[in-house]
Formats: sequence, structure tokens, C-alpha cells
Amino acid sequence: MLIGAIEAGGTKFVCGVGTEDGRILERTRIPTGRPEETVGRVLEFFRDKSVKAIGIGSFGPIDVNPSSPQYGHITTTPKPGWSGYPLLAAIRDALGVPAGWDTDVNAAALGEAKWGAARGLDSCVYFTIGTGVGIGVYAEKRLLHGLVHPEGGHIPVRRHPEDGFAGVCPYHGDCLEGMASGPALEKRWGKPGAELPTGHPAWAIEAHYIAQAVMTAILMLSPHKVILGGGVMHQTQLFPAVREAVKRGLNGYVRAPEILERIDEYIVPPGLGDDAGLCGALALGLEALERTS
Ligand code: ADP
Ligand code: ZN
Repeated sequence: MLIGAIEAGGTKFVCGVGTEDGRILERTRIPTGRPEETVGRVLEFFRDKSVKAIGIGSFGPIDVNPSSPQYGHITTTPKPGWSGYPLLAAIRDALGVPAGWDTDVNAAALGEAKWGAARGLDSCVYFTIGTGVGIGVYAEKRLLHGLVHPEGGHIPVRRHPEDGFAGVCPYHGDCLEGMASGPALEKRWGKPGAELPTGHPAWAIEAHYIAQAVMTAILMLSPHKVILGGGVMHQTQLFPAVREAVKRGLNGYVRAPEILERIDEYIVPPGLGDDAGLCGALALGLEALERTS
């Protein structure tokens, strides 16, 4: 049985076809243009694939409340044409199969819980530190929603004492995303993160902000695993620095051996690597199919 998966991003849509065990058999990448054109190309990819269901993990903010008239829409975005666009319906109606829908980061959290670093656990949080910063929350074996959905990328952070950078968030300036996203790194240091050497002072500052977000997630949600993904986390030296800062910051208060003794296995990269979002979308498709049968 084949399931379709779409990781709908602001820069690119990654579409894939996979099986119930989370294996992606075929994929394609479509640059994000205007909605009709982009969706046209997505549908073209799935046309001859005979998928039984489709899952979409989308950039946002999006409406994930099934009883809302705007369910399945992208709500507000500066991306031309996408504000208010009914992405879920456009795809579900054209393909005529059950469709699952959630944020890209919630999808990634689900993918990791099903097949990745949090496999077999009841909860995890997934952070993406990329063009934006986002958090997906899997709690008590399901994805967390609420009034809208978690927006942990925009939590306030305590400034690093050596950091005079104003921040890049158009809403808050120096929130987590404003201080720690890929574009924040690039603006603060004058070149993209990928070009900054491992020993650069940028990384201690970056770890300081990420660690605060991780501590907040631990204190608020008590996850069984914290997964850090996204382009910036390709800088693997950040992991030991974040773990160290989290341990120091919590200062023994949360008395779990996972944190006190095994933090290397607690704050980890995605087990599915850069496929967390796509596999998560596949899992959303599977869930949609299970709900209908
Ligand atoms: P997106 O968030 O757009 O889905 P990514 O997760 O790949 O995509 O994040 C892209 C951001 O991550 C860019 O701002 C880029 O500069 C940054 N980035 C990508 N690779 C690296 C790297 N190796 N080191 C540091 N920053 C990186
Ligand atoms: Zn913000």
C-alpha cells in the first residue's frame, strides 16, 4: 500500500510516496511559487501514484482545528498568494483520498515518534532551527494543538551578555527565532552559518539561545525526548554545547536520569535526519487512513 507525503515549506515542497513502515520509495522537490502553480506540480507528481491517503506537514501558521471554517488553510504569511489559501482542500479534493494535515514541525515530531529518535516513547518535542524556528509537540501519544498550535519559535529569550544583536523577527525582534534562526546568524555575523568555522564565538551564543528553548520545553511539557533538527543543527558541535547549557541551567531541578545521567541520549538530532518532516507527513497520511477505516 502506498501513502503520499508532502512537506510543504516556504522555500520548497518535498513530495514523496512511501509505505506503512515509513520507507520513502520516491520523492521530488518543487520550489514554492504561487499556490496554484505549486499545487499543480504537486498533483502532477501524485497523478499516477495511486496513493491510498495523503499527509501534509505545512509551513504556517495554519488552521488545524477541524471544526473551523478555515480548517486546512494557511492563515497568514508574507508569501505572495498563500495567505488564506486552502491547501488541504486543494490537494485532498483533487486526489480524492483521506488526508492528514498538521504543521511541518508537528509532522516531524510524529515521524520521529513513529520511526525515529523517539520511537516507542509517549512524548517528544521537535525543534527546527532553520530559516525559521518552530516546535512540534507530541504528548500522551498525540500531536498537541490548542487555540491554534504551539509557536515555540517565538518565545522570549534571555539575551547572551556578549550579544548586542537586535534580532530579525518582524514581530518581536529578539525572540528565539529573531536571535537563533539561520537568517539571524547570517545577519549578526555577515555570512551564512555554514561558512562560520566550528570555533567561532557564534556557536556559544547560538547554543545559549537554543538551550533556553530546550529548558522551556522540558519545564513546560516534560517530554521523553528532545529532538533538534533544521539546517542550523547540521553544526553538530551545537549538541554538546546545548546539553551542557541545559544541564547547567536546570541545575539539577528536574530529577530525571535522562537529564542527570544520559543527556547525550535525551537531546538528540532527528533519527530520520532531514527526512523527519517527510516521514511525519507520511505518518499523518496513515493516521488519516486509519480514521476513515
Ligand atoms: P528551511 O528552514 O527553509 O526549511 P533548513 O532547515 O535547511 O530549511 O534551514 C535553512 C537555514 O539553515 C538557512 O538560514 C541556512 O543558512 C541555515 N543552514 C543550513 N545549513 C547550515 C549549516 N551547515 N550550518 C549552519 N547553518 C546552516
Ligand atoms: Zn518572533
